[in-house]
Order: sequence, then structure tokens, then C-alpha cells
Amino acid sequence: MKLLRYYGDRRLRIVKARMQYVWDDKGTRYLDAHTGHGVAFLGHNNPRIVDRLRRQVEELMVCNLSFKCSVQDEVLEKLSHIAPPGLDTVAFANSGAEAIETALKMAWAYTGRRRIVAFRGSFHGRTLGALSVTWNPSYRRGFPVLGDVVFLQYNAEPSVVEEEFPDDVAAVIIEPVLGEGGVVPAQRGFIKTVEQVAKERGALLIIDEVQTGFGRTGKTWCHEYYGVRPDIIVAGKAIGGGFPVALVMAGQEVAEKLVGGRHGSTYAGNPLAMAAVSAAVDVLIEDSVALKAREAGRKLVTGLQERLKGVKPVRDIRGLGLMVGVELRFNPQPVLQCLQDSMNVLALRAGTTVVRFLPPYMVTSSDLEALVDGLYECICRTYSC
Ligand code: PLP
Repeated sequence: MKLLRYYGDRRLRIVKARMQYVWDDKGTRYLDAHTGHGVAFLGHNNPRIVDRLRRQVEELMVCNLSFKCSVQDEVLEKLSHIAPPGLDTVAFANSGAEAIETALKMAWAYTGRRRIVAFRGSFHGRTLGALSVTWNPSYRRGFPVLGDVVFLQYNAEPSVVEEEFPDDVAAVIIEPVLGEGGVVPAQRGFIKTVEQVAKERGALLIIDEVQTGFGRTGKTWCHEYYGVRPDIIVAGKAIGGGFPVALVMAGQEVAEKLVGGRHGSTYAGNPLAMAAVSAAVDVLIEDSVALKAREAGRKLVTGLQERLKGVKPVRDIRGLGLMVGVELRFNPQPVLQCLQDSMNVLALRAGTTVVRFLPPYMVTSSDLEALVDGLYECICRTYSC
């Protein structure tokens, strides 16, 4: 049987992982700034997540949402401490894309409208609804994506947003930092205008925090930096500490449009996923994860700026918290391979020219130094400095 891998082969067999490190079958240790596309932000096999999951496996693994069980109460209580104001209802999903579908369905059901506004450079997932609001034409080509999606320019001038925002929009969906699209933080004036225009025109504001959320960018939710108030947020990746789970939070009035047979998913809200989220929220709060990510992110960006100053192949260095991108003038693939093979650092690509670092929050100063030095060395080896 052959495994369909979807992604390019990194030529690495991982045999174990612990917090910010993974080991290959030859015993070599790697600093993991790939983290499975940002999933292992709380570290690999974080003992608190593992312990809570182990207890849940022994207690109860199946409890459909028609029934009640104590882990549901537990996770709701935990989430109430981190939910954005007014978003008091949560729906679970099994992946980021599935949670995006749920959010879109909420907006369609609530407004009775069809049109969605999304942004160039966006990535929201690979299922048909999520793909329809994802920009990259090569991901969409050949698939019957939804027609009524209007893509506006990310970080457009406020007057351009006002002018180009169409009528009759159900929702506008936005990442506060473009992830796949090249690690591009939103400008404040832009995202505030998006919020304002959406509110004026009766469209819901969906913030996709799948990659930026749960402390990754230095706040629990990245949109807090901008002072915007979403109608719906979508979260995934880090929220299960490695367990596959995603969620949507919305106000009750919006969320409850999906009850009565209008939505469902066999595994959504399963006890293991809820136990993982519950433990992950404990780690997030009790270990000041957002603050640590903010400080480590600052160190990383400063280190990169100092080390890569004047290095010709580098076009830009940017990011928020531990979501950091180094834009090159060239294809970053050979640099990523060099980081892996010669520097024992795993990173990933964003857009066509960006080296993206998504390390776990507990990276140490010496990890960050190794990463910075490794990147310098690899850029200079690949494209002379
Ligand atoms: N939204 C954003 C911002 C993402 O980065 C991703 C995945 O990378 C998704 C949605 C889709 O999540 P998943 O791959 O879990 O379906």
C-alpha cells in the first residue's frame, strides 16, 4: 500500500519528539520550527497534554454531542477564560478547513446572503468551501469552487477597501497575519477598515486564527493587537497540543442557526479532542505561553535583523510573536534543505520566497541563536552573500 503524502518529501524519518526537538532514525536531534505546519506550538508530547489524554482514553472515548459527559463541561469552563468578548458559543471540528466550513455556514445561515469577501494571499484550507475563499489559483484550479467570492487586496488602503467592498456580503474572512501567503501581518488601518465596512454593510467578520491563534503571535488571539471585534473566530493547529481538533467561536444568535439538522460531524467534539483542548488551555494560561512567544519572537526577529543585515539575498524580515518569515529574493527550498541537513533546524516555506519559522513557545535563547546562525550560513552557502 502506498501512502498519498500530498506534500514534498523532506527525506527525514522522525522517530521521537519532545517539546521543541525531534530526532531522526540516526539519533540526530533537530530544532523543530516546522512543528507540523504550526501544530506543535505547545511542544511535542507536552507531558500535561499527554497525561490528560491518557486519563480520557481510559475514562471515555465516545460521547456524541446528543449526550452529556464531564469533559464537555470541563472544556467549556476552560474556554470561557480565553473566548473573545461576546463569542460565548463554541462548535468543534476535526481540522481547520472543517471549522472554516462551519464558520461560513453560520454566516450564510445567519445573514441569508451568499457572497463572501476574502483576500489575495489568503489560505483557509483545502475542502471546497475553505478552498473557495483561499487565494492561490494553483490550489483551486480544476475544482468546482464557489462562485460568489470576491478577493480584495490584503493591506489595501482604507479608501480602496471602502470602494471595492461589494454589496450583499454574508461575511468577510481574514487572517490577521497571512500565513501560507508569506507571513504578512495586517496593517492596523486596513483591518480596522475591514471591520468597520463589514459592520456598516451587515456582513459578519470571520477571523481565521487557525495559525495565528492560541498565543502563537504573542497574544492569546492575534486580532487583539488590532482591537477588532470579530463575529466569529476559527482556531485550530495549536489548540489541541498536537491532537487533531479545531473550533469555531461565535455569539449564540449566530452559532445557533446551525442547529436542527443544518450541520453535524461524527467526530466533532469527541471526548479526546475536548480533553486535549482543556489541557492545552491550562498550559496556555498557566505557562504564560503568549507572553513567552512574544518575548522569544522579539529575540528571534532582532537576531535575524542583526545577523542578516546587508545580506543581499534577503528582502525582508517580519512577523509577530513566534510566527516569523524571512523573505528572500530567490526560491527558499534549497535554504530549507540546507537548514535541515546541515544545521539540524526544521522550517517551512510560505508563499514563493519566504522561509517561515513556527517554533514552539519554549524555544531557548540558544535554540534561537542556532536558528539565526544556521539561516545565515545556509543563505550564504546557497546564494553567495
Ligand atoms: N486557516 C489557516 C490560516 C491555515 O493556516 C490553515 C492550515 O494551514 C487552515 C485554515 C486549514 O487548516 P487544516 O489544514 O487543519 O485544515
